[in-house]
Amino acid sequence: MSSPPRLLEAVESRVEASAGKVLGADEEVLIRVFSDLEQDRRFGRQWLVVTPERVLIFPEKDSGGHVEVPIAEIRAVRTETLVGGGQLEVERFSAPTLLVPYSSSMSEKFSEVALGLEQLRKKAPLVISTQLDSTRCKSCNRLLPEKDGICPACISRLTTLKRIAAYMRPYKARAAVLAFSSIATTGAELLPPLITRRIVDDVLVPGEGSTATVDQRFALLGLLVLALVAIRCVSWAAEWVHGWVASWLGAQVTADIRSELYRRLEMLSLQFYDKRQAGALMSRVTRDTGRLQEFLVDGLPYLVINGLMIVGILVFLFGMSWSLSAYILLPVPLLILWGRLFWKRMRHQYGRWNRAWSALTERTSEALSGIRVVKAFAQEKREVAAFARVNAAARQAGVETEVNREVFFSTMAFLTGLGVLIVWLFGGREVLAGELTLGTLLAFYSYMWMVYGPLQWFAMVNSWMTWAFTGAERVFEVIDTSPESYSDPQAVPMPQMNGRVRFRQVAFGYDRSKPVLEGIDLDVESGEMIGLVGKSGVGKTTTVNLICRFYDVDRGAIEIDAVDLRRIRLEDLRRQIGIVLQEPVLFSGTVAENIGYGRPGSRFEEIVAAARASHAHDFIVAKPDGYDTQVGEHGNNLSGGEKQRISIARAILHDPRILILDEATSSVDVETEKKIQEAIARLIEGRTTFAIAHRLSTLRHADRLVVLDGGRIVEVGTHAELMRRRGAFHDLVRLQRQTSEIIAVRE
Ligand code: ADP
Ligand code: MG
Repeated sequence: MSSPPRLLEAVESRVEASAGKVLGADEEVLIRVFSDLEQDRRFGRQWLVVTPERVLIFPEKDSGGHVEVPIAEIRAVRTETLVGGGQLEVERFSAPTLLVPYSSSMSEKFSEVALGLEQLRKKAPLVISTQLDSTRCKSCNRLLPEKDGICPACISRLTTLKRIAAYMRPYKARAAVLAFSSIATTGAELLPPLITRRIVDDVLVPGEGSTATVDQRFALLGLLVLALVAIRCVSWAAEWVHGWVASWLGAQVTADIRSELYRRLEMLSLQFYDKRQAGALMSRVTRDTGRLQEFLVDGLPYLVINGLMIVGILVFLFGMSWSLSAYILLPVPLLILWGRLFWKRMRHQYGRWNRAWSALTERTSEALSGIRVVKAFAQEKREVAAFARVNAAARQAGVETEVNREVFFSTMAFLTGLGVLIVWLFGGREVLAGELTLGTLLAFYSYMWMVYGPLQWFAMVNSWMTWAFTGAERVFEVIDTSPESYSDPQAVPMPQMNGRVRFRQVAFGYDRSKPVLEGIDLDVESGEMIGLVGKSGVGKTTTVNLICRFYDVDRGAIEIDAVDLRRIRLEDLRRQIGIVLQEPVLFSGTVAENIGYGRPGSRFEEIVAAARASHAHDFIVAKPDGYDTQVGEHGNNLSGGEKQRISIARAILHDPRILILDEATSSVDVETEKKIQEAIARLIEGRTTFAIAHRLSTLRHADRLVVLDGGRIVEVGTHAELMRRRGAFHDLVRLQRQTSEIIAVRE
């Protein structure tokens, strides 16, 4: 038997101790969570501990005062949403309701707590989710950049690097060329100081023991210069190849990752999308992969080159003189320490800079896409002022970041300068004492500069890598999310459904503790038209979402042709369901392409036939470009009614067995609605149809109307039956008539 769920958050020892004093020895803790607000809604902490018998609340400041409520004393538990947060309300039989406030980041957690408490109160088994969205990193407790996001401080760079490297596997040959050219470049950089050393020591100022004649020295000079030329040539070619291959590989690998990311985004369930903003996901596709590419092209290859460089230089330096090498490396620890301290600070700075920039882009895109509203309310000036504010914040953050960078680099240069002084001072003394040749001193001098460059680079690359890898991890996170089960081998294929739909005791809530639908029982015959009716927010759209399996039911089941929806092959299911929504979504492309969207490869005649059936043909051919009319972003050059008729044509061509019309005619005028109604009348022939309509009169032709209220079905029957019954439906109709009469009188 699997153990029941426990929702336990790590607790401070102080609370643990005071809870231990109160709890009995064998009293099991089922739930233990903290709220980030105190009773007076100030920031602080209180702990909520639940055992099978009672609920305990421990305030932050432990004055021995905890609150205790026996479960048997609870009448009801619910959560209430307030501005910037919410509260848990524990209603009691013989005492005032107990409130536990919390900030909005904790609302999901407290929803689960409320659910759990309700289950305990009803003596039902505890069924709560213990997988909560986290706003803080589980291992270091830092605030995460986004809900359930990745903690930049905790990602394992090696693991991420390995994963990125795996994407290079198909391009082994090029990766090998890259590695080879890296080594060649490094070698070509390292050799020249050794040759200039020879030029100085053997040609220009040969030591006393030298026997070479002037002619021999001329010849040697020529030879050494020739060697320098050869090295330059190799270096030039290697850098050229290196740059080319690195750019190519970086771009290719990023494109591959981007494709995989997008493939996954298309396959993810709507549940995934509910939790995230489309904008944030877009930025993963564009910005995060962009950062990664930048790092792959300009960072990673230099990691290798600069690493080789440092090792190579150190080998040469120590080979030439142990003592001098030891001296010039003195400032290195300082350099490293400074780099670490500095980038730690810079991380916050970059964070601020980033946030300022997102605020700027967000503001701009909102204002521009809502430009009609801005103009309609004559709020241009205000938008300009708001922009100026975020712009100033972005400038400020930008300046601070830049200034800090300058401070960093000038300090680095200063420390490097110390190294040079050391070369002159100690190296010069060794030359004077005859322990070191002049050529060696000069070689030292060159290597000095060469070693500090990569060292500075390493101090910086750390944070750069973190930055790029956090982006990569965000991308991998999406790639690793399990997709909708399109390819479940156990799924039942159903290429030809009849369209009989059955709801059996269906319960569902987007948030499990707040059920939207409860105990829905409904039997729909194949070919029947059902009108779903109810107040706004009652769960009509939710019902049809469940039929499409955009979400899975929490309890009960939905069956199509007596097979549980969850067992039907998803592709078969979706292919045979057609939806027309209130807000038609058209993609950029021609009208014909949009109609054929759900059935690629349709013949032109079929498209025209579908357009005729949806009463779209006439207005389409009246346009100058006819079926080739370009539909702009969101179909801006078409009216609402026209767009709707195109989307109906799309549904007709798709030829679904089950048709869903969710307020398909709500956004158009009465005249157009009549035309669309005719189109719909043709569309529903012979199909099982679920229609939701704002104007109740448009559902008069439905075989049955299903009235929802409070998450349940309250009435079922034909239009006439329900009107006669004078129940909930009658009330709705009367209400609507009154409203339209009022409007009519005003007009
Ligand atoms: P309607 O009957 O107007 O179509 P819906 O089915 O859209 O009502 O909504 C029912 C309830 O579910 C509403 O309270 C709504 O706020 C909530 N809801 C709808 N969609 C979501 C979602 N994606 N995430 C969370 N709650 C939702
Ligand atoms: Mg709706």
